[in-house]
Amino acid sequence: MLIELNHIQRLYRSDEVETTALHDIELGIGSGEFVAIMGPSGCGKSTLLNILGTIDRPTHGAYIFGEQDLTKLNEAALAAFRRENLGYVFQSFNLIDELTIEENIELALIYRNMPKSERRERVAQAMDRVSIGHRARHYPSQLSGGQQQRAAIARAIVGQPRLILADEPTGNLDTENGAQVMDILQGLNDEGATIIMVTHSPSHADLAKRRVDMLDGQIVVSVRNAI
Ligand code: ADP
Ligand code: ADP
Repeated sequence: MLIELNHIQRLYRSDEVETTALHDIELGIGSGEFVAIMGPSGCGKSTLLNILGTIDRPTHGAYIFGEQDLTKLNEAALAAFRRENLGYVFQSFNLIDELTIEENIELALIYRNMPKSERRERVAQAMDRVSIGHRARHYPSQLSGGQQQRAAIARAIVGQPRLILADEPTGNLDTENGAQVMDILQGLNDEGATIIMVTHSPSHADLAKRRVDMLDGQIVVSVRNAI
C-alpha cells in the first residue's frame, strides 16, 4: 500500500457547535491506483483530500504514507514531505498571474537545489506532456481555461511526485476541455502515476480505476470500475 488511512476522524469545533466532517475513515490506496471520490456537498470530500494532501490534520487516526506516519511529523517536515511527494491540481487552476507558464511550472522545482539546466529540461518535458509548450512564455490570463489546467497539471507532475491529488480538476471546464484533462490524467495513470481525484462528474469518475462514494463523513461504497 502507498497510503493507509486508519480510523481517521476530523472534528471541527466552533463556539458551541461541533461538526464531525469525517467519521472513522478506513482507506487503503495502492501505488498506481486512480481513485475518484464522489458524494454530495458537505459529505467530507474536501476535508478528506486536504488530509491526504497534509494541508489539514485529522483529529484522530493515523495517515501512513509509504512507511511513515505523517500525523507524527511537524509542520516543517510536512512541508518537505509535500514538496518531495505530492502534486496538486485544483478546480480553479491556481497559477500565479505574475509568472509565465514556464515560470509557474519551474517554481515547483526551485526549492530542490536542482541546477538550472536540469530544471529547464524537466519543465520542457512536463509542458510537452500536456501539449502546452507553445504557451511557455505566456501569462495565465492569456490562456484558455483548458490550457491553464493543462499547465497546472504540468506543474503538478514536474517534480515527479508519488501522488497526484486533484480537486474537481474538470469543474471549471467545458465538456471538450474536461475530456482533454481526463485523457491526460488517465495517460499519466497508465504511465504509473497514483491519482486521487474529487469529482462531481459521474462520467469522469467512471474513467478512474476505482470509485469511492462518501456520505455524511463516511465512505459508503468503494468499487473497482470495469475498464
Ligand atoms: P465536501 O467537500 O464534500 O463538500 P467538506 O469536507 O467541505 O465537504 O465539509 C464536510 C463537513 O465539514 C461539512 O459539514 C462542513 O460544513 C464542515 N466543515 C468543513 N470545513 C469546516 C470548517 N473550517 N469549520 C467548520 N466546519 C467545517
Ligand atoms: P486549447 O484547446 O486549450 O485552446 P490550443 O488551441 O492552444 O489549446 O491547442 C490545442 C492543441 O493544439 C494542443 O494539444 C497543442 O498541442 C496543439 N497546438 C496548438 N498550437 C500549437 C503550437 N503553436 N505549437 C504546437 N502545438 C500547438
